[in-house]
Amino acid sequence: MIIVMKPKAPKSSIEHVVEIIKSNGLETHLSEGKEVTIIGVVGDKTRLNLSNLEIAPNVDKIVPITESYKLSNRKFHPEPTSIQVGNTSIGPDNLTVMAGPCAIESEEQLILIAKSVKKAGAAFLRGGAYKPRTSPYSFQGLEEEGLRYMKKAQEETGLATICEVISEASIEAAVKYVDMLQIGARNMQNFQLLREAGQSGLPVLLKRGLSSTIDEWLNAAEYIIAEGNRNVVLCERGIRTYETATRNTLDISAVPVLKSKSHLPVIVDPSHASGVRAYVAPLAKCAVAAGADGLMIEVHNNPPCALSDGPQSLTFAQFDELAKELKAYAALSGRNF
Ligand code: PEP
Ligand code: MN
Repeated sequence: MIIVMKPKAPKSSIEHVVEIIKSNGLETHLSEGKEVTIIGVVGDKTRLNLSNLEIAPNVDKIVPITESYKLSNRKFHPEPTSIQVGNTSIGPDNLTVMAGPCAIESEEQLILIAKSVKKAGAAFLRGGAYKPRTSPYSFQGLEEEGLRYMKKAQEETGLATICEVISEASIEAAVKYVDMLQIGARNMQNFQLLREAGQSGLPVLLKRGLSSTIDEWLNAAEYIIAEGNRNVVLCERGIRTYETATRNTLDISAVPVLKSKSHLPVIVDPSHASGVRAYVAPLAKCAVAAGADGLMIEVHNNPPCALSDGPQSLTFAQFDELAKELKAYAALSGRNF
């Protein structure tokens, strides 16, 4: 819930309300406007049932808000957030393109792809070192060795880097080598992992769970931010529906919905959303038109031989072509690319 103080309420009244909330074991989040101060209550609000806050001096009204997420909520943070990663920022001014292989396969492969996507305009190199595969017999990733190649690619190209983490041990390894952590769809509600990512000190890209609602997703983001890490980016990557023509169904409406409910940047992954190379470019353009702050796209030097997700990976030529087209879309939406 939020407590709206009367216009020009004296500091003492605000402090009194904050004190009542804190003495009940809850946290506050102050939003101080020119006239009105709004106090956000973080935690189990039922603990305040007996504190008669509505009759405290200079309280105007108490607005129960149904969303349990506060720190990721736009109501408390009306301005869109911009997140600095290395020398690039993810947010309303830019169209941030993250591109690279599904899985890191070798040093040569990664450097080759990094150089190619950088030339086309990507700001980030993506690549999985820990692959949460549906089958335990599929390629599981090069783990720390792959992270070392990421670091090399970053040093050679200057691209920011992002890798998925799947456990506490993989976070401990990743923080030594990459600029941003990714939490994958399968781990969106791995609450312990979310907390550990929140403590990692690195920005976090949080993918939407396969069957997660937007409310669940924003609550998952809340877990990370509640650890003191405000640098969270949301990534729509398709949800599971009855449709089988595509790997998942891209929920493009999630982009404007998230923009209205949250201040966090939103990017779209058309590769995992569709699973089909030919659909990646049209969905990417549609994501930018819908207001996405960026894209995550799988690119491979030789997709037919990729160790994972070859059918949805773009070739270098296809990615170049798409990047050229995206320039016009970025310009139309007032973003730098
Ligand atoms: C990935 O980005 O490599 C990945 C596994 O994606 P998702 O978690 O969206 O399936
Ligand atoms: Mn993949």
